[in-house]
Amino acid sequence: MSEADRRVVVLVSGGPDGPRPRVHPADAPLLLADDLAAVRGDGCFETLLVVGGVPAKPERHLARLARSSAALGLTGPSDEQWRAGIALAAREWGPDSEAMLRLVLSRGPERGGAETAYITVAPVGAHARRARAEGIAVTTLSRGFPADLAEASPWMLLGSKTLSYAANMAALRHAAAGGFDDVVYLSAEGEVLEGPRSTVVVARGGELVSPPAEVGILEGTTLAALAEIAGAEGVPVRRERLLVTDLLAADAVWLLSSVTLAARVRRIDDVTLPPAEPPVDVAGMVDRAVGRA
Ligand code: PLP
Repeated sequence: MSEADRRVVVLVSGGPDGPRPRVHPADAPLLLADDLAAVRGDGCFETLLVVGGVPAKPERHLARLARSSAALGLTGPSDEQWRAGIALAAREWGPDSEAMLRLVLSRGPERGGAETAYITVAPVGAHARRARAEGIAVTTLSRGFPADLAEASPWMLLGSKTLSYAANMAALRHAAAGGFDDVVYLSAEGEVLEGPRSTVVVARGGELVSPPAEVGILEGTTLAALAEIAGAEGVPVRRERLLVTDLLAADAVWLLSSVTLAARVRRIDDVTLPPAEPPVDVAGMVDRAVGRA
């Protein structure tokens, strides 16, 4: 089997061994056909980077998973059970190559029964490595929602990392068909929201600015880890509503996420951004935040 095909699967709950996580053969089926994750996208997930066999910022991911689970009315394994599962999965993967470790919590079979919780580990894809090294071209796409939808309609689960990512994947395919690497979503009013799997951050003078969670976006764990390091180095990270014109006028723009880390935006639709070195070394700070430097 090639490295690109290597997978590790760990069952965290729902198995005959009860709460103790155990390795599951990576090529054997795990879910029942009517699992609500498969038929409704009804569940939540997290994706962590594993560097040198060490999962990056696990506590931030567990805290967000707990918030997503609560918003969905799911119980999920305890943090202790997840931690044991993460440790087992990372150990099985080993220290030699960077990996993407996914925690998945489903409502379980439609016929009734326990929630399904499991972990998968896979190699970091070539597109992520290319985005880190070369940067990306993005297109702006409307999500069609007003920026106050999250508060007005909490059942839309806008701040939760649910398994219902089909629209995000469609947006990325739409972007790719137009020759773009990624997407920046806009609200109905034209406010900058987030990427389908990333947080937007800009450098402006000596500070970093990112849209606030209240516009209906996922709170990024990479942004939070960056903010901690940047703050300690005297670089404030402010949360402020942004328009596309703010992105075009910024010193630099990045999409941040746990696996791709910091992808410098080189082009927004048909506008090429200035290539100058950014005033803040965001990529270096993110690398340090996840233990890569
Ligand atoms: N926004 C969305 C919609 C995402 O899917 C992700 C990725 O998980 C992010 C933002 C960035 O979050 P994180 O930095 O925790 O990976």
